[in-house]
Amino acid sequence: MKANYHTHTTRCHHASGSDESYVISAIEGGFQELGFSDHSPWKYDTAFVSNMRMKLEEFDNYYASISALKEKYKDQISIKIGLECEYYRRYMPWLEQFIKEKKLDYIILGNHYFETDELHMYYGSQCDKDSMLEDYVRTCIEGMKTGLYAYLAHPDLYCRSREWDHLSEKAAHRICQAAKENDFILEYNLAGLKMSQMIHQDLYPHPKFWQIASQYHCKAIVGVDAHENSALEDTQMYEQAKKTLTDLGLEVAETIAFLK
Ligand SMILES: [Zn+2]
Ligand SMILES: [Zn+2]
Repeated sequence: MKANYHTHTTRCHHASGSDESYVISAIEGGFQELGFSDHSPWKYDTAFVSNMRMKLEEFDNYYASISALKEKYKDQISIKIGLECEYYRRYMPWLEQFIKEKKLDYIILGNHYFETDELHMYYGSQCDKDSMLEDYVRTCIEGMKTGLYAYLAHPDLYCRSREWDHLSEKAAHRICQAAKENDFILEYNLAGLKMSQMIHQDLYPHPKFWQIASQYHCKAIVGVDAHENSALEDTQMYEQAKKTLTDLGLEVAETIAFLK
């Protein structure tokens, strides 16, 4: 089965295309299953408004829109409704309640900020600092252990802001070992791959990270991380990614475990 569980919508303020255009492109790209996982809203303790995620008030529209598409295209593609969520320890009780109440199919762990984005900066631009890298690794592992998330999106996001060094290597070992121990899937992220190819530099997925993942025999999944619908039509990149993973001897997951 060809599936993708990492798809955004314009509600996150850095994606383009209508919700429906993603479905049409997924069908065009030969996907049998498409999961929407836009950046999750949070019920913050402060009046903070994030510029990279939907507001809590926008969630119902998100859910209704995807549900309508699920029904409209049911004979052509299976559609799942999820979210890409951070691991914010202080807000986890709220998140757990929220995903249950809203009957989401799944959530993926997209670890972009330490503790909360009310207070901290993007890991993708801050992991050149050793303490940020440490926070990144620790929270990835804590998130995996909650049992709530279907997989870890772009596990090597820290390579976006850090030249590969002995601490990058150590971080990869810790993340991959934890993934193996918790039978947790790691995502090979195509948005990062596209960016890396564009600037001719290995950001993420980082080849050295994935060599280490292969030493631990981790389970991998390809995530398009579509922020524009056309990304779902790039079958060449998708197939190339799958081949990279199987050449490394990794088991490639075709689907994920859904929430009950
Ligand atoms: Zn995004
Ligand atoms: Zn992400």
